Amino acid sequence: MKPYSQLSKEELTALKEELEKQFEDVKGKGLKLDMSRGKPSKAQLDLSNGMMDILNSQVDLVSSDGVDCRNYGILDGISDARKLLADMSEVPERNILIYGNSSLNVMFDTVARAMTHGFLGSTPWCKLDKVKFLCPVPGYDRHFGITEFFGIEMINVPLLPTGPDMDMVEKLVAEDPAIKGIWCVPKYANPTGISYSDETVRRFAHLKPAAEDFRIFWDNAYSIHHLYDDKRDVILELLNECVKAGNPDMVLKFISTSKVSFPGSGIAALAASEANLEDAKKYMRVQTIGHDKLNQLRHVRFFKDMQGMYAHMRKHADILRPKFEKVWEVLDRELAGLEIGTWTKPVGGYFISFDSMEGCAKAIVAKAKEAGLVLTGAGATYPYGKDPKDSNIRIAPSFPTVEELEVAVEIFVLSVKLVSIDKLLE
Ligand code: PLP
Repeated sequence: MKPYSQLSKEELTALKEELEKQFEDVKGKGLKLDMSRGKPSKAQLDLSNGMMDILNSQVDLVSSDGVDCRNYGILDGISDARKLLADMSEVPERNILIYGNSSLNVMFDTVARAMTHGFLGSTPWCKLDKVKFLCPVPGYDRHFGITEFFGIEMINVPLLPTGPDMDMVEKLVAEDPAIKGIWCVPKYANPTGISYSDETVRRFAHLKPAAEDFRIFWDNAYSIHHLYDDKRDVILELLNECVKAGNPDMVLKFISTSKVSFPGSGIAALAASEANLEDAKKYMRVQTIGHDKLNQLRHVRFFKDMQGMYAHMRKHADILRPKFEKVWEVLDRELAGLEIGTWTKPVGGYFISFDSMEGCAKAIVAKAKEAGLVLTGAGATYPYGKDPKDSNIRIAPSFPTVEELEVAVEIFVLSVKLVSIDKLLE
């Protein structure tokens, strides 16, 4: 296929006419398709239905460490749940604290806690003139939503194939004591799907921030979410690297079983140094008498151990893989060689990241909507919703069926082609 930029004005105009006809045809079908959010499909949710049969009035609701899960008590989680989530986070049990149903909630609470009380006795952030966070971009819109909510200034840091631009991260954190944190999704990042290299993880562990209360917010939401058995990303475990580097308190690791069991009804946890967990518990003790232990019990009885969870994740992969492959098949077939977009091919996670020609993303999302396809808003993957190049679009293939995806991606590529032609004809 010839790059669009090499076509003459006349060729582009003729092509546009032909593509517009195709677009009007699909538009006429009155479709309603959604590739906007990384939600598991019904078939994926069904995989965990057995969990609903595990607890009933006939079974013993006492955990293996003798806790009656129906009652108050046990602030940091029943021991089996601590073991499971510690294994999932690749940390010793002493470094895990079980929370409620959502890791995003834990991240929000952690920033709120730093604002009002500071970390480990440091000045509460709300008393400082300025608090800043580094935001690798493109990134997760809800991370940026938390820091924006608290009035924290966000600084874009380019996300490279190896992780955030570490030259920039090292320089900025060393120079500016107002920089208190960085948002990271180290494995199968949302939305690019890249995983951080060993060198990146080590450089994180060896950071020398000017702020003593600087924290790496390490959101390992997709830690075991592989698409393939034979192609998998493996990342270095950061807490251990930080301990080795003499910086044990610099990292806060967040995790949940949202996309393992049920989003919104899973278990979330914080993995960190014992000092950081003790600090978090001071807050938690006032906040709650304890989280949902029946849900913890249900999860440990259903998965048993990490082997059980890995086997379960393979079933998720079997459902997700054909969907990713369908998206890539259509993108490769329709767009390869046209030089009007690039897209990622991760081996895990929930997203494909698409970069259009500069200045086209908003128009592509709007165009697709005309034909009934909802995409994540352009700009959402950047702090303040502002993509400086207006080119990044997050594609979430998990929720629609393969058949729906085929049509959805056809609409997407038609939208990309039409908007790109308009740009070239400007
Ligand atoms: N972190 C990332 C990177 C996500 O993509 C998501 C959901 O899409 C979450 C966290 C939400 O996690 P939870 O359901 O545990 O709040």
